[in-house]
Amino acid sequence: MAILAIGSVAFDSIETLEGRRERCLGGSATYFSLAASFFTDVRIVAVVGEDFTEYEEARLTRRGIDTRGIERLPGKSFFWHGSYLEDMNVAHTLATELNVFETFSPKIPEVYRDSDFLFLGNIDPVLQASVREQLPNVRMVVGDTMNYWINDHRENLLKVLPQLDTLTINDGETRLLSGERNLMVAAQAVLAMGPKSLIVKHGEFGATAYFGEQAFAGGDENPAEHHSHHDTMPFRAPALPLSVIVDPTGAGDSFAGGFCGYLASLPKITPAAFRTAMFYGGVMGSFAVEHFGTERLEAITRAQIDERFAELKALSHLLD
Ligand code: AMP
Repeated sequence: MAILAIGSVAFDSIETLEGRRERCLGGSATYFSLAASFFTDVRIVAVVGEDFTEYEEARLTRRGIDTRGIERLPGKSFFWHGSYLEDMNVAHTLATELNVFETFSPKIPEVYRDSDFLFLGNIDPVLQASVREQLPNVRMVVGDTMNYWINDHRENLLKVLPQLDTLTINDGETRLLSGERNLMVAAQAVLAMGPKSLIVKHGEFGATAYFGEQAFAGGDENPAEHHSHHDTMPFRAPALPLSVIVDPTGAGDSFAGGFCGYLASLPKITPAAFRTAMFYGGVMGSFAVEHFGTERLEAITRAQIDERFAELKALSHLLD
């Protein structure tokens, strides 16, 4: 199974309580792909500028990521400057430069057309919609967004939401999108905007999934196979308590990468698989935050991932 990911491939300047880094490799598609690459084949559609060199590209291809869909244009790559102050769960955007993304019109390479999964990473919803249209037959579409698009590109974003199987956003974004303070109420309001399921990420506190009626209806080869009421009850996956959090950037995209990567590695998306996938998402997020940028994700092994998965399971295991 292969995942096609569209999103930003970027340079990030980041300030956290643990220090600062200038222009590290980042972007929603970058974090997502690195995380998902431990589970399945990943292909990227994005655009970069002249500052993206063979060195950066090799950091992706080394993990087996297909970069043939990364277009190069004259100019500079997407650039984001962010900081985290007291609360590592809240990113403050100091600068966003779309640069080559301003004129980008995504084209899906012929060799990517048989992709099974589609990840619409955090990027202009118009681009998300255009890629979705070019791939109408994928098994699952997972999408992400952020306050920037919720605030200033709301109408376009609302057109993408009904196209999604799963929307992954954080709690602040859930409140912003819905206009509701209470998270339960906010989540239901977001589900009513069209995604079949919603994963609300709570940073260092894990993630909660909310399901609409149709959440597991689509992919069933056997229509007689009905899921129980429990399958669509909200589900909370914890995050691994960490003693060091260096840089939260990319945690959300890494979560999505672990989540989609794991699901794409299975023949069927069941309620049980969805829940397990959220645990793998949590594991990948936990690695991402341990170093600046993508450093940690690039250094880990599948064995370390599985070890953490077991720890995460044990974290909330009841003895009865
Ligand atoms: P997150 O997983 O939410 O921490 O995503 C972090 C990544 O999002 C960073 O590497 C940024 O380059 C990227 N990013 C920040 N703002 C935007 C934006 N408006 N559009 C696309 N990508 C962004």
